[in-house]
Amino acid sequence: MKMEKNLVEKINAAAEELYPEMVKFAQKLVQTPSISGTEKNLADLDMEEMKKLGYDEVFRDEQGNVVGLVKGTLPGPTIMYNSHMDHVSPGDSANWQGYDPYGGAIDVCEADDQEKTVKELVECIHGRAASDVKCGEAVQIYAGGLIAKLRAQGVPIKGTFMFTGVVQEEPAEMVGMKYLIDKTFAEKGLSYDAMVSSEATSLKIYCGHRGRVELLITVYGRTSHGSAPWLGINAIYKAIPLIEKLKDELYPSLPVDPQLGKASVSLNIIECSPGALSIVPDKCMLSIDRRTIPGETVESVIAEVQAIIDELAAKDPEFRADVKVKTATEVSYTGVSCEAVKYMNPWKISTDHPFVKAASEALSALGQPVKYGYWDFGTDGSKTCGIDRKPTIGYSPMQEQYAHTPYDKCRTDFMKKALAGNAAIFLNVSEQGLEAFEKVEW
Ligand SMILES: [Zn+2]
Repeated sequence: MKMEKNLVEKINAAAEELYPEMVKFAQKLVQTPSISGTEKNLADLDMEEMKKLGYDEVFRDEQGNVVGLVKGTLPGPTIMYNSHMDHVSPGDSANWQGYDPYGGAIDVCEADDQEKTVKELVECIHGRAASDVKCGEAVQIYAGGLIAKLRAQGVPIKGTFMFTGVVQEEPAEMVGMKYLIDKTFAEKGLSYDAMVSSEATSLKIYCGHRGRVELLITVYGRTSHGSAPWLGINAIYKAIPLIEKLKDELYPSLPVDPQLGKASVSLNIIECSPGALSIVPDKCMLSIDRRTIPGETVESVIAEVQAIIDELAAKDPEFRADVKVKTATEVSYTGVSCEAVKYMNPWKISTDHPFVKAASEALSALGQPVKYGYWDFGTDGSKTCGIDRKPTIGYSPMQEQYAHTPYDKCRTDFMKKALAGNAAIFLNVSEQGLEAFEKVEW
């Protein structure tokens, strides 16, 4: 189905009208620090703005996530537009070339084009989280406002536009998202049919990323005096053959995904205990960053390490080790404490999936070139597609290369395009039949 020219004109006109206020709002978001666990002021701003823009329902859940709904005039799917409200530290402000990380300054400066091949002189908003994800967040909230505006003009709207702003994505993807979907939605009788993420995509449609498992392997020994090591079992020495197997056997044997690339394993921290010079250690702890591809599971990742442990134990009766997935406790700004398991699911959606096709069609109708990509980093798509298997894509004005750097900025010309783009995606995907919302498989 092609989008009508008349509708495209209405979208563009509304985007043009909302654009100046949207840029001011994005600036305000950048000027409001919201490091993970301190998102309250930002959440307040999001809620206020959604009310101002004519959302029908706006609420905050117990964990501090915010939700806004724009209801259509006809039955249809609920499309979730998702942003995280937190961000990482600005780091040393001396590296910010004169910009205040919380200044939200707007100027004309050099920025990459979409393909990162040419620098262009364009207007940008500067500051921490401009590219991860406050400018994308402003665009999504305004896209809901644009839908409300079209509805007021008498344009028939199918389904529901849902904005969700979640807490604590940076330290632990999925902590806010899982709480919101599994607890808050369940309690309120809400559900969603697909998700559009605001994480940086340079106006391309992103279709997945690898998963991540943080593993802790503990190798055991027995203490003795450091002056008499022959009386003990040195846990560090016992870890050596295990480390070699991870590096020389497991790593080269890992599978490759044609779109997302190679699975990987990397030993990034070694600690030992008791950790004093006069004592042979009886514990050696290895922290492993394991990146997974679709088809791999937390069970399969654990099993392959367990197989190495079993093999070594069969050869050496003194060898003892175990492996587990790391956990961390995260407390939200409202005081809700969650035990986060450090496992983020991999996911991908085919560019031929009817949902992705409908989104592409919407961008084409606006005259935006349709390009696809995949993230290097993780997102809350690990919950919506990785676990829930709902169609999920990324579409955002922000550019990946500026995220978490002191060059953090977002092009305002991309923001205007993304505002119209997000609204058009909503209007076109909500017209699709049930096949566009079927479970994603790989
Ligand atoms: Zn992010």
